[in-house]
Formats: sequence, C-alpha cells, structure tokens
Amino acid sequence: MSTLPTVGHLIDGKRVDGGSRSQDVFNPATGKAEKRVLLADKTTVELAIANAQEAFPAWRNTPPLKRARVMGNLKVLLEKHADELCAMITAEHGKVLADALGELQRGIENVEYASYVPELLKGEHSKNVGPAIDSWSEFQALGVTAGITPFNFPAMVPLWMWPMAVACGNSFILKPSERDPTSALRIAELALEAGLPPGVLNVVNGDKESVDTLLQDPRVKAVSFVGSTPIAEYIYAEGCKHGKRVQALGGAKNHAVVMPDADVANAVSALMGAAYGSCGERCMAIPLVVAVGDAAADAVIAGLKAEIAKMKVGPGTAPGMDMGPLVTKPHFEKVKAYVDQGVKEGATLVVDGRNLKVAGHEDGYFLGPCLFDNVKPGMVIYQEEIFGPVLGVVRVKSLQEAMDMIDAHEYGNGTCIFTRDGEAARYFTDNILVGMVGVNVPLPVPVAYHSFGGWKRSLFGDLHAYGPDAVRFYTKRKTITQRWPSAGVREGAVFSFPSSK
Ligand code: NAD
Repeated sequence: MSTLPTVGHLIDGKRVDGGSRSQDVFNPATGKAEKRVLLADKTTVELAIANAQEAFPAWRNTPPLKRARVMGNLKVLLEKHADELCAMITAEHGKVLADALGELQRGIENVEYASYVPELLKGEHSKNVGPAIDSWSEFQALGVTAGITPFNFPAMVPLWMWPMAVACGNSFILKPSERDPTSALRIAELALEAGLPPGVLNVVNGDKESVDTLLQDPRVKAVSFVGSTPIAEYIYAEGCKHGKRVQALGGAKNHAVVMPDADVANAVSALMGAAYGSCGERCMAIPLVVAVGDAAADAVIAGLKAEIAKMKVGPGTAPGMDMGPLVTKPHFEKVKAYVDQGVKEGATLVVDGRNLKVAGHEDGYFLGPCLFDNVKPGMVIYQEEIFGPVLGVVRVKSLQEAMDMIDAHEYGNGTCIFTRDGEAARYFTDNILVGMVGVNVPLPVPVAYHSFGGWKRSLFGDLHAYGPDAVRFYTKRKTITQRWPSAGVREGAVFSFPSSK
C-alpha cells in the first residue's frame, strides 16, 4: 500500500475521492514519486456531470456583471497565491520557477479577459427590420461544458478554457493532465474563494475512462481539448459522433526561417529561449531553424553553440537555471531516442546533451540541450514532434524553398521569420499555411484578447482557443424577431414569403 498523499477531485465545491485506480505523480528533478493521483471512474465523472447540470440554471441566470466580478476576484487571488502555484507547477512539471510564473501570468490574463464578459456578450440589435418589427441576436450559454488539458501548461491551458466558459454562464468540468494535476485543482479552490458557486466548476482527475465518459455523455454540450495530435483527432471524432461542439488543439513542429539579412545575434538569442525554454515542451517551441543560405546557417550554428555553452541546466527550483528536467522518465527516454535516431539518419550532432549529469539529481530526467545541423525533410527528427530540448537546422537556398517545406509539413501551429526585409516578411505572413506567425518574434503566442490556434493537423474544429473565439465557442447564437402590433388593428393572412419588398 502506498503511503503517498493522494490528489483527488473537486465536485460540488468539495475535495472528494473517486475511482479505484491511481498512479504516481513524480518530481522530475529527483525522479521520486511524491503523490498519487486518483483516476476517476465513470461513476465519479457522472456525479460531476450531474452536479454541474444542477448548478447550471442559477448560474446562467446570474447577471453577467456578477459573473465577471468572480473573475476579477480570482485574478487577485491568483496573483496573491502565485508563489504557491508556481512551486506546485515546478514540482510536477519540472520547468524553472520563472517560466512557471510566465505561464501563470498568461493564464491570469485569460481570467482578466473573461472579466470583460458583459461587454463581450452584448448581442446585435436592429430596429425596424420590418413594420414595427425589431430583431436582435444574443449569445446563450450551452449548459455543461468540459475541458481536457495537457501536461505542459498545467495552470495556463485550463485557464484558457474554463474562465471564459463559466463567465459566459456555462458550468464546466475540467480533466487536467494526470502527470501534473495539483495546480489546476488548487486554482479551482481559489475560484470558490473568489465567489464561484459550488458545482459551476468541477475538476475530475483521470485518464481515458474519464475522458470517454465526458465525450459520450449527452449532458455535456461542448468539449475543448489541448494535447497531442493523435488524441486530438480521436477527441474530435468521438465528441462530434456524440453530437457535441468540439475544438481539439493538437501537436506542432514549428519552423523559424532565418533570412540572409537577419540580425543574427538577436535571432540566436530569440531562438535559444524558443528552442530550449521549458525544455522544448511547448507547442509553440521552435524545434527547427530553416536557414536561407549557408552563410546564415553557419552564423546561426556558431551563435547557438556559443550560447548553449553558457546554459545552466538543473532543478527548476534552483536560482538562475535556464532549463529544468523533462516531465517523466518515459518522455526522457523517448526524447533521447530521437537524438539517437537523428544521428543514425545522418544529421550532424553539433551539441550532444545526452550525457548531462546534474550533481545531486542523478535520478532526475535531465537532458542537456542538443543541436543538429543538416536536418532534412523525410528524417524522423524533421517530421515528428520531439517535445524536448532538441533543435535542428535545415539548410535551404531561398525563402520560397523554406516556405514550400513549411507548407508541406503536417503541422501548422506556429512559425516565424527573422529578417529586416519588409517585403519578404509580408510575403511570408500573407502566404504561409500556418495559424500563428511571428516576424522577428519567435513565440507568436497571441495575447488573451486574440485567439490561439494552428492550421492543418494542429487543430481539429473551426474556432480557436481563448480570446473572442472562446466567447463564440461557449455560446449559442439565438436571433429573436419581435413585433408588437397596435391593439385592435386586424390584418389578413399573407401567403408570400415575408421580405422587405
Ligand atoms: P496527451 O495528448 O498525451 O494528453 C492530453 C490529455 O489527453 C491529457 O489530459 C490526457 O489524460 C488525455 N489523454 C491521453 N491519452 C488519452 C486517450 N487515449 N484517450 C483519451 N484521453 C487521453 O498530451 P500531453 O503529452 O499531455 O501534452 C503534450 C502535447 O500537447 C504535445 O503534442 C503538444 O504539442 C500538445 N499541446 C498543444 C497545444 C496547442 O495549443 N496546440 C498546447 C499545449 C500542448
């Protein structure tokens, strides 16, 4: 019997257990299991759904301004508890504390945007669309909605979803990643403290069993998902089959183009953070540089090599670290195997991080930064998402060759171009088949009041995450046409289709 503390669920405003299965939650910096997360069974998830269904009518009818105030209160509480939350994130995910704080801040900005909901829910009104007839559209809450989130942003991605969903008047069930479940649960408790009524937000921890229950239950009206592409595709198909609105954001392989005229020193600094920040475990990370011309490629490689030599890798809690460990042992093994594969495929391993040892943390999942030159399309390390600190440089001869390569890739989440040529930048942003594009900006993650989403196999569904698209995703449009004829005026039947003629 394990004596580790357990992480359960939050239903009807209370921490509860549920499900006979559980799994270890590890500290990636030490390799030690520190908790066990309970994996909700069907009955537990159904209890959460029933509870959310019960909470919905009163919450839906709560004035939007009062719902918005809860978001305002939550923003203050999240800021107040930032250190506690970042410590939880780093203990389970491994990212350095400063990065955890960046993630939390981006999440808080989504809460802040959700607090503008009275303005965002204002409908459209037209007077006199016909004789004494007025018409308006309004955006009504859907009912019980749900979100399934990945390990790599355990606080931020849930905050992309549920604050706007509940601000719009829905109730919500969150299923966080079982690898780092604690911060999302704690934030849900803070939401209660902020004034969210019990049941409006329930959290169930779990795996496929809990996800499938959410996807198949007719009481759940919409599902947001963020995670890997194979699971995103499954969620989209299964959710749609059961009549739900679904948005499923998947994986990525983001290319950064470095043009011959780029400011190489600045591009190198930008690429360092984008490739190795959070150990490369970001869906907007840059794992591929496409250098136009050998001179650009040589300069970028030389610059990266020099910067990598200065990087500090160690536990995310230690001051001054640039990069922490990978999230789990299996993921560590998988990323290391990709590096072996790259060598076998004939790419040039310029910096090899495979033998890194962090003193005092010998069982942690630390992999040093790796850098490949001469990566080519068709290689596994070019095609597949590695999700680790592995950056590859591809050499091409022209911008068009770079763009054709990016367009042919199955993923289309993010990309960027480093250049001082406005015409090239404009051509790139106008034509590239990718959903989020940066010009001299390596991580073009939209701010909370724009929406986030990739193209091609990086997103299944139509509406993007957070921002204005989230208001549309979590509401249904209803259009009302209203007439108040003067009392006593009698009119005959009209059989032609009513029009403005
Ligand atoms: P994952 O797909 O393994 O897991 C995501 C969620 O799906 C988790 O909650 C997990 O419990 C659940 N899940 C896993 N297997 C399932 C199954 N067979 N059936 C039903 N549910 C299942 O992803 P991850 O490893 O946690 O996260 C990393 C991935 O997420 C990367 O591919 C990354 O690119 C992607 N990601 C994408 C975005 C984006 O916005 N596009 C953002 C962050 C992460």
